[in-house]
Amino acid sequence: MALQAHLDSDVTALPGVGENRRQTLAKLGLYTLRDVLYGFPRTYKDFTRVWTPGELQDEGEYLVRGELIELSERQISGGRRLVQARLSAGGGTLKLTWFLVHRRRGYTYIYQRLQNAKQLWVYGPVKRALLEWEMNSPEFYLKAPRAGLAPVYPLTSGISNQMRVRWVEHVLGYLGEIYECLPSHLTAQFGHRHEALRSIHFPMSHSALEKARRRLIFEEFFLFHLGLQLGATAVPGKVHQPDGPLVERFFQSLPFQLTNGQVQAIADVRSDMESSARMGRLIQGDVGSGKTIVALYAAVKAVESGGQVAVMVPTEVLARQMVDRFRDALQKLGIEVELLVSNMPKKQRSAVLEGISSGTIPVVVGTHALITDGVSFKNLTLAIVDEQHRFGVRQRQALGDEQSADMLVMSATPIPRSLALTLYGDLAVSTIRDMPAGRKAVDTRLIHPRQRNQVYEFVVKRVHEGEQAFVVFPLVEESDKLDLRAAVQEMERLVKGPLKGVRVGLVHGQMGQEKEEVLEAFYRHELDVLVSTTVIEVGMNVPRATVMVIENAERFGLAQLHQLRGRVGRGDKQGYCFLIADLKSDTIKRRLQAIRHSTDGFMIAEEDLKLRGPGDLLGLRQSGQPLFLLGDIVEDRELLELAAIEAKRLLEENPELEGYPTLREEINRQRPAI
Ligand code: ADP
Ligand code: MG
Repeated sequence: MALQAHLDSDVTALPGVGENRRQTLAKLGLYTLRDVLYGFPRTYKDFTRVWTPGELQDEGEYLVRGELIELSERQISGGRRLVQARLSAGGGTLKLTWFLVHRRRGYTYIYQRLQNAKQLWVYGPVKRALLEWEMNSPEFYLKAPRAGLAPVYPLTSGISNQMRVRWVEHVLGYLGEIYECLPSHLTAQFGHRHEALRSIHFPMSHSALEKARRRLIFEEFFLFHLGLQLGATAVPGKVHQPDGPLVERFFQSLPFQLTNGQVQAIADVRSDMESSARMGRLIQGDVGSGKTIVALYAAVKAVESGGQVAVMVPTEVLARQMVDRFRDALQKLGIEVELLVSNMPKKQRSAVLEGISSGTIPVVVGTHALITDGVSFKNLTLAIVDEQHRFGVRQRQALGDEQSADMLVMSATPIPRSLALTLYGDLAVSTIRDMPAGRKAVDTRLIHPRQRNQVYEFVVKRVHEGEQAFVVFPLVEESDKLDLRAAVQEMERLVKGPLKGVRVGLVHGQMGQEKEEVLEAFYRHELDVLVSTTVIEVGMNVPRATVMVIENAERFGLAQLHQLRGRVGRGDKQGYCFLIADLKSDTIKRRLQAIRHSTDGFMIAEEDLKLRGPGDLLGLRQSGQPLFLLGDIVEDRELLELAAIEAKRLLEENPELEGYPTLREEINRQRPAI
């Protein structure tokens, strides 16, 4: 404990750091001893191997040793001096050059210091010159430097690398061997923290560095998962009855055969709902994979057990669509479904509120209006949240927390497992990987802007066949006025030109209630084409829509494109997706080709995650601050998964983490996720 507290001390506790240096260190983000300790090297100088000039093969940074066979110094222009030397060993030579600015500290005496040297070690970038290897401005050593990898820290004027080395050594020395937080079976696997911290600053070898990184990354992930799961395990929830005749009738009413993924997801939900622990389950599946069936099943089951069900979706349009779908499926079973949104007649609203609290309304579908004051359920046993990432974790939990209702979360954004673990670490996951049989893949094409008009002619043709189309324009930022104006102009140009004569609705993110009305009208087929910025809702279900046109497709992430494409071809007609893009660069071309040829949202999401990072994948702005100091949820996903499993295991054995004071302390220090 005392140790931990000591790490929170101000940097002035370090030797040679007073008020001035404290301010300089602040520029590097170093305020406490912990910052110094966790201020890992930017890179390393590789002293693990000493090369002779004769062994050099490729350009790069090397530590080279040789006999000093030549040394000269002369005055050049601008008051500078040029020192040149030549090393020889192993049958090759290396030419060394230093340009010395007079009076600049450290440089002035190179010539004098080298004068009596016989052997020399130099470190720097080796380049191939005409006849031999050369190195400019190398660091040099008269004795062999300590073997291993030498840390290179971010610096600022007034702070030298050597100082940082000294300070890190100071803090490490203070910590000793007792600074450990992981249980012993994990230190046996990953090594000790103190050792890892020493090694990441001063690794003896590449493998030692790798081992240290693994230990520290594992620790980061492990603490993160403990934080997520602590207190979330085995909360008592609702116990639902085994499936009865109502559920039976529900299954019989389905006009199709369930896919394997659906069957499995339903089985997961069944066992969660029947158990006494509170269900926390994420159902994820690609667009069109049929997640709604799982939600409907859960709702019927809850109602059959005498409970109430709340279904929360992010927008009013989606709420209205969802109500339709729930009514479609449930009314024939005699289950009433009501809508609750903020924007509804007062009288109707109070009737719904009354029915919710008296228990006469078994199923209610709504927006966040469901979690506002004045909504109180008689016996809520199941909360369903759709399109989860649009809600904060807290909002998700707010629905149903009061009565610790079972929780079912549905995500239409295929999320790579690694990321799902990070964002939904407190949820169990069921993934629907297969598509309903007979589903036609959307015909996807890359279109050069010059051929744009043909695309719109095609759109008009489909419209005359009674089909509908989306046209999407990207906005760099919804709040960017200039960008928005450009997009709106483009849209208007379309309306007056290529799309003349068809019923076009226009929406963008800065519209208020009006936007919902346009979307609603499109949904009701009072409009043929919906032109919009990216605000077309994930989850918009318009079976008559067959064409998706995406302008400036190169500006979207792959996962986003895939989501947009998923809006069409949901009925029995063939869907089309046109990606209009100037394929200037190869990367753009490769990316768009990838989406053209793949229909697997998970693979696309993985690809996107690699290319653009998690912020983009979720359509969120990158916060700039990575979630983890060292760990990368893509590169290190194997450790991320392992950490999740180990965290779960530990909490099952020891839910309060008794006997692990350091661990608890570390968890509390972790900044909250998202
Ligand atoms: P998601 O929410 O996963 O995007 P939906 O639940 O909206 O998918 O289902 C998409 C469409 O596929 C709906 O029209 C639904 O009725 C239909 N559907 C779902 N499951 C099946 C199935 N097993 N076989 C055939 N059609 C299905
Ligand atoms: Mg859906």
